[in-house]
Amino acid sequence: MIQLKTIEELRLMKQSARLVSQTLGMLAKEIKPGVTTLHLDKLAHDFIKDHGAEPAFLGYGGFPASLCISPNEQVVHGIPNSAPVEDGTILSVDCGVDWNGFVGDHAYTFEVGEVSPEVKKLLKVTKESLYKGIEQCVRGKRVGDISYAIQSYCEKVGYGVVRELVGHGVGRVMHEDPQVPNYGRSGSGKVLKDGIALAIEPMINLGTEKVKFHKDGWTVTTADNKPSAHFEHDVCIIGGKPVLLSTYQYIYDALGIQSDEEKAFQIDF
Ligand code: MG
Ligand code: MG
Repeated sequence: MIQLKTIEELRLMKQSARLVSQTLGMLAKEIKPGVTTLHLDKLAHDFIKDHGAEPAFLGYGGFPASLCISPNEQVVHGIPNSAPVEDGTILSVDCGVDWNGFVGDHAYTFEVGEVSPEVKKLLKVTKESLYKGIEQCVRGKRVGDISYAIQSYCEKVGYGVVRELVGHGVGRVMHEDPQVPNYGRSGSGKVLKDGIALAIEPMINLGTEKVKFHKDGWTVTTADNKPSAHFEHDVCIIGGKPVLLSTYQYIYDALGIQSDEEKAFQIDF
């Protein structure tokens, strides 16, 4: 059942989501060739704890870290390790916090050093598809409208849209109803209402949509070992319209990126 949130609850959710955004912004300055993903995980863990919050991923289903860090062909759920990250890598960093009773869950794929034009385009299109999905978060539309918007935008470029992993409702726990697939039919699925809060998260592959699940119980890679990108925002509906709870602004400030992509969805409440 979908748990609709009050404005007061959404304000608390925004604090949790923003703490994840700040954590990703802090990491943006540290992500460079030679860094280890274990070091990034420690920084994020301490940053979240210093703010009085809990890393939501640590111990979730037995997950051993505060961040999922998935390089290159890893789609999601990568486990941080002590190998130095090489120039030209992409790192999908997914972070969750539990704060004041609500979860924030939000991800960004970073470029490490110099990344090939082909992979840069994958990141650009995947992030754009996230906003195509967010645009559909309008009262009276359906979950399938979000799914279709993401799928059609990415498949048009020839990318693989992962089927086995999906976005989700978010709130007092990390995964609530409804599931939000990145593929589907417009006009299908549950109706979107004011107070719904969703983690929308396209996972898009340069090659095949097919993925492999690894024996460690977590790591997911593309079946053809080509790169995969992952961007995730927490969004809700207020007054019939999409309102972002998370923001990439901390990352953009850290990296000197100018962007107005969130402008239409950053509404004070
Ligand atoms: Mg996530
Ligand atoms: Mg998620």
